[in-house]
Amino acid sequence: MIDEPLPGVFRIEAPLPGNPLKSVNCYLFKGRQRHVLVDTGMNRPVCREAIDAGLAELGVERGQTDFFVTHYHADHMGLVGDLATPDSTVYMGDREAGIVYYVLRTGGYWPHMAELARLSGFPDKIVEESLQRHPGVKYSTPVLPPLTTVRDGEEIEAGAYRLQCIETPGHTHGHMCLYEPQHRFLVAGDHVLGDITPNISAWTEDYDPLDDYLASLDKVSRLDVSLVLPGHRRIFTNLNPRIEELKHHHRLRAEEAWQIVAEGPKTAYQIAAEMKWDIVAESWERFPAMQKWFAAGEALAHARYLENGGRLRSERRYVEGLGRECLCYFAVTRKLLVPVTAGSPEDRRGSIP
Ligand SMILES: [Zn+2]
Repeated sequence: MIDEPLPGVFRIEAPLPGNPLKSVNCYLFKGRQRHVLVDTGMNRPVCREAIDAGLAELGVERGQTDFFVTHYHADHMGLVGDLATPDSTVYMGDREAGIVYYVLRTGGYWPHMAELARLSGFPDKIVEESLQRHPGVKYSTPVLPPLTTVRDGEEIEAGAYRLQCIETPGHTHGHMCLYEPQHRFLVAGDHVLGDITPNISAWTEDYDPLDDYLASLDKVSRLDVSLVLPGHRRIFTNLNPRIEELKHHHRLRAEEAWQIVAEGPKTAYQIAAEMKWDIVAESWERFPAMQKWFAAGEALAHARYLENGGRLRSERRYVEGLGRECLCYFAVTRKLLVPVTAGSPEDRRGSIP
């Protein structure tokens, strides 16, 4: 399906059968000589057919098309290797490109994720199943074209528009949106979606994606935007109310995670099992492995955020049932401050420095 949300900007929907996201929105900025396609869909025949049909309907040649990839996930980048021609420029945020190079060059990305999942309390069987089914494993771009990296604040030409690159880390380390200040629209990638909540997962160590994500929401809330072109689902207008909803959602989720841990130490996997999820399944045990993966990634993101905020702490503990040590989260209970009055040191024993 193609529509034209703005003059010269066409949305081509690439279907994602069997995926809860349903489809991905790819935006073609049609120009006189060169065109820019923002995001491409997964490396699956069904996506390729939709893109090819869309470009043909618009009378656009791939040889005259450049690409902008908002982030490295397979549903946004999966086809770029096949679609780009030697004449194409493929833009990507510099931080995000760093991850792509790391993933391709070291080969250590997936084993590292698997190790972190085991440390977070995943049973080995579910780690294996998740990684076999992970869209990033199955539907990534098989070849990487040369990337032209862009930094926060730089501009690119796309059709009749001049777009500002806005780095918005959170959904991924180097996610980038595109902003057009004159016509006041934002190509949002997966930073802000209208109907669904972008997945915020902490699948790398020492990174607090939720803290970054909330800061990136504040960053785009300062832009003057009247139309949002998101990576999935419907195009929408009410950016700032939606941002407030997303911030509220994460406050509630963090509180929920804290309450679960307050009842007893837990791994991220155990926290996820007790959190409420908007998914049709009788119980956590019946969640598909891939949904468990995304859920536990979210639980981990919230636990880490709470840990950095001083409300949880973590340490490795032996977990019964798994027969190995995992990272467990503990609630930090705050003692009430006892007012300090002048007197002997003994009088101040109850105070907390
Ligand atoms: Zn996506």
